[in-house]
Amino acid sequence: MALKGTDYFKFTPRTNCKACGKPTCLAFCMDVAAGKLEIAKCPHIKPEDLEKLSEASAPPMKTIKAGAGKAEFTLGGETVLFRHEKTFVSKSLYGVNVTGDTIDKMLPEIKKIDYVRIGERMFVEVLNIEFTGDKGKFLDAVKKANGAERLLILSVTDPAAAKEALDICKANKPILNGADESNCEAMNKLATEAGVTLGVRAKNLDALYDTVAKLEAGGNKNLVLDVGCGSVKEAFANAVQIRRAALKDQDRTFGYPSIVNVGKLSKGNHELEVALASIFTVKYGSIIILDSMDYAKALPLYGLRQNIFTDPQKPMKVEPGVYQLNGADTNALCLTTVDFALTYFIVAGEIERSGVPVNLIITDAGGYSVLTAWAAGKMTAGSIAKYVKENCGDKCKNQTLVLPGKVSVLKGELEESLPGWKIIIGTNEAVGIVKFLKDFKN
Ligand code: SF4
Repeated sequence: MALKGTDYFKFTPRTNCKACGKPTCLAFCMDVAAGKLEIAKCPHIKPEDLEKLSEASAPPMKTIKAGAGKAEFTLGGETVLFRHEKTFVSKSLYGVNVTGDTIDKMLPEIKKIDYVRIGERMFVEVLNIEFTGDKGKFLDAVKKANGAERLLILSVTDPAAAKEALDICKANKPILNGADESNCEAMNKLATEAGVTLGVRAKNLDALYDTVAKLEAGGNKNLVLDVGCGSVKEAFANAVQIRRAALKDQDRTFGYPSIVNVGKLSKGNHELEVALASIFTVKYGSIIILDSMDYAKALPLYGLRQNIFTDPQKPMKVEPGVYQLNGADTNALCLTTVDFALTYFIVAGEIERSGVPVNLIITDAGGYSVLTAWAAGKMTAGSIAKYVKENCGDKCKNQTLVLPGKVSVLKGELEESLPGWKIIIGTNEAVGIVKFLKDFKN
């Protein structure tokens, strides 16, 4: 049961000392109840009360860390059911099924999917290694996958095979996905000793609930829940009910991230597999496993994921920098525009279409479009000049800079701020860039 602001208020000294950053104790407690502040921000609450209240005020869904090094990922920690309420926290991870028979073929395949879109690396983050009955092949696959810099899931219910697999890869903090009603004690012991996350599965939701409760009673709260792969309907219903129970009903027994294997659900139908992966990206797969990944699957899926898991209140931005397009070197013409992702990709796309080498200078403009950034004082002659002086000295020897036509008003001031640079007014719209560049005589 979630605590209210007045419940927290009883534990404060009510001195309104403001050490927590709020004007009154009550205001602080209301923010704690709303999930905006942590109760620990008040330094005057007794340690024994703090422990109890921290537990009660923690997000209803646990945040789980799995993997290690470059393949360490955060799962869960969600606080809302719908993205329009608040930002989702931990993006879904995509993985592929591998076995001892397919690992050699699959490893080079997944490495082909690796690209950056709006500053985010898109790649296959997870390898789900399935135990198919042959321990030798399974362990061989674990050894090969262990060096792939991916989060590993050991999908195995046999404790003896699980132990040997963990001995190979436990330093990389895999997820041991195989605890069920029959083996949960043995698997719990293995996962706890290895310090890895335990995946829990069951024949239905009631059994899953009981198994999780049993594991929690044994002290393990480092869990992920497998929603099952009996049928699409059942897996989807399970994913939704688990998330609703955790977030809406505040039932922390189901307050864990989830795994869904759409490869198994789709039974070799690739179109259905992508459709299911899309559905579970929206509702509510923390890790989504496919049978394979290629660009035809990756482009729509990763694009969808990026849209779902970005904060709608923050504009999508690209990193400020000098982007060398069409093989530009230090002598290439310079263009500048804002860091709003949509603007960047349209402008960069038109420059690429022209084939003319260009150094595209992106300054920090708050993620706004050109006119909005200018009106908000985020794109000024001063900000452009400062960036160019600090970052472009050795990258741009050709000191000719093309300004977006819509901010031609900055030309005079920019010429004063950047002595030695020639400032040219470019086109009002990106669509004119190709002709402008082809006709341009430096
Ligand atoms: S720090 Fe604690 S005592 Fe001080 S105002 Fe905040 S809640 Fe009240």
